Amino acid sequence: MSKIVFFCIPAHGHTNPTLNVVRELTDRGHQVWYYSYESFREKIESTGARFIPCDAYDMEQRLSPEDGARIGKDLAFSTKILVDTTLALDDAILEDMKKIQPDCIVADSMAVWGKAIAMKLNIPFVSSTTTFAFNQYSSKIMKQSIGQLFNMIISMPKISKDLKRLQAKGYPITNILDIIQNDNLTHTVVYTSKEFQPCADTFSEKYSFVGPSIRETEKLVKKNADKLIYISLGTVNNMMTDFYKNCIAALKDTEYQVIMSVGEYIDIKSLGEIPENFKILPSVDQIAVLKAADAFLTHCGMNSVNEGLYHEVPLVLFPQTPEQGGVARRVSDLEAGIYLNKNTPEEIKASLETVLNDSKYKENASSISESFKRCGGAVKAADKILNVARKQPSINFERIRIC
Ligand code: UDP
Repeated sequence: MSKIVFFCIPAHGHTNPTLNVVRELTDRGHQVWYYSYESFREKIESTGARFIPCDAYDMEQRLSPEDGARIGKDLAFSTKILVDTTLALDDAILEDMKKIQPDCIVADSMAVWGKAIAMKLNIPFVSSTTTFAFNQYSSKIMKQSIGQLFNMIISMPKISKDLKRLQAKGYPITNILDIIQNDNLTHTVVYTSKEFQPCADTFSEKYSFVGPSIRETEKLVKKNADKLIYISLGTVNNMMTDFYKNCIAALKDTEYQVIMSVGEYIDIKSLGEIPENFKILPSVDQIAVLKAADAFLTHCGMNSVNEGLYHEVPLVLFPQTPEQGGVARRVSDLEAGIYLNKNTPEEIKASLETVLNDSKYKENASSISESFKRCGGAVKAADKILNVARKQPSINFERIRIC
């Protein structure tokens, strides 16, 4: 029986794919400890893992879901969170690790404190990557914006200062990119397929592409028209009243059935009269909707895109952040969807009709779906973790006393 410790940031998109993996490990009789945040307790405990809240060590920062989403996009902010969180957790976690003596640490690629602690104690480590894996080649394809590069350059002196604080505590970290980037020496589980990952052949054999982890649902959505269109901008950057009004104007006098999820913060009454063929809700069971949908107008969050393609639904791509831009570009390159070029009723209708009427988009979505289903999923991810755990059992608990 192995002892595995997970670390994650407070974001559903990063936590959800790990849940089936943890369940697979506990079902096989392994022990799992999962460091996360109170609002994720129920989900995590339902997998059979022992939940350990990090909120108390994090009093100063109060990492909100929005801050969780900033990690990895803003390098100076990411480094500050890395250093502050690692130092805040340092004593307590080192004590815990001494007691648990884990055979492996698994940390989300953005919960960089997990990797830092594994490096410090020389514990076998697996990175859990819920976005595309990111290296010098894939980042070119995903075209990190000039603004982000600028942000990185001006924040360098501040980053060096923050890193010195970690080094003083015995962490062998010289370069923030060594931690943030996916590198070819680190064992890594990526929740997509090799076919969907950009530049997949530039990643070493230490990478396991296990496919997305798609939630099951018993719910069914009743279809009352030939074609069902689903529209959602996800759960974070979704406050775009104009866009929702344009969708209504685009599709109100059509034969399509439309389901639109607008998030918790939009006052649905402010969208005007709701046409008969529309259902507009703050939130829907997205998996149930996608099982019945014929086209999906999406903001291109990695989870939404995975879920759409898994259910063989062609996409209209309306990315709102650089990360979503990278995902959209990949879908567009593989011709499983097209960009919404302009946020106008005419463009919305025309783009949706293109993916509904040209069968190549549906065919390409289906072939990505097949690649996801061939990946091996949670079983393969659990095998990978156990393999790493068994191979390198040299935990350096001596260092705990030195530092
Ligand atoms: N989601 C949902 N119902 C909704 C809207 C979204 O269940 O009405 C889920 C969706 O299935 C996905 C997640 O919320 O798993 C959104 O994640 P994504 O990475 O696509 O976007 P984010 O919300 O992080 O921008």
